[in-house]
Amino acid sequence: MLRQAKRGVAFVLGTFALMMQGTPAANAGSKLPDPSKADSADKLLRLDCGRSVANDQSIWTPGQNVGRSIEFSSTCWLVKHRSEWLLWDTGVPESALNDPRGWSTLPKLIVYHLDRSLTEQLAEIGLKPRDIAFVAISHTHGDHIGNVGLFPNSTILMQQAEYSWINSGNGPNDNVNQLLALARKLLGTPKNLRLIDGDTDVFGDGSVTLISTPGHTPGSQSLLVHLKNSGFIILSGDVAHSEENFDKDIVPSLNTNKAESIASMEKIRQMIATYKASFFINHYKKQTDTLKLLPAFYD
Ligand SMILES: [Zn+2]
Repeated sequence: MLRQAKRGVAFVLGTFALMMQGTPAANAGSKLPDPSKADSADKLLRLDCGRSVANDQSIWTPGQNVGRSIEFSSTCWLVKHRSEWLLWDTGVPESALNDPRGWSTLPKLIVYHLDRSLTEQLAEIGLKPRDIAFVAISHTHGDHIGNVGLFPNSTILMQQAEYSWINSGNGPNDNVNQLLALARKLLGTPKNLRLIDGDTDVFGDGSVTLISTPGHTPGSQSLLVHLKNSGFIILSGDVAHSEENFDKDIVPSLNTNKAESIASMEKIRQMIATYKASFFINHYKKQTDTLKLLPAFYD
């Protein structure tokens, strides 16, 4: 199930060099690690951050699957780097825990359910929310930032473009306006907010890198993690919702920019080749069900 690029090292390094030379605009401020020199994080663990059912799959596959329902997974990830922990996304709000009515960001379209709380899953490996040094959020949709409020002492890492967007006032699309209002409410005013601009090496050693992948929202990002035994793993954020969408450049109608969405998918494809990376697609239930779940881990 995992996507692995089957290409030789020479080609991989060649691609990397090409990427590094690419257009200045595309790579401005790029902090992508050199695959041969990147240090490793220690562990990567998946948390169950909810599940959802949407009543019209065609929102994610325009023109196809009209009126067909679809189930999505919601995943969060913990990265252990020496004595520090980074949490990637925070999932569906804990207030939805075991609520049979569920919770929603867009009630006419999608309903989320939460079977296990983030707090309980952290406790399973001996952690409390205050032990999490960094909370990195892929983007500000409610199913990704639902529990940011549990981490008042953590440094919140998000793209400046995302922060500007949710604070930029309403546009013409009511669904989007509704999502923006919810985003502002759930994000609140974090004490330690670090706004970043583009690809960013979190620990300064190439082990964990935030990858700018705009399109789903203006400041969407993905995460590149390097592990000793598992190699490089890319966590998608919402750069794609399924393997088919990713392979065929299919862009959901809710995305804020179609051209950026396609460019971001291409950027990830290049990185999969460059880093011979596995690619874990956050909402793609078929794949998520095959991945290790905390307390099991990748190392
Ligand atoms: Zn999402």
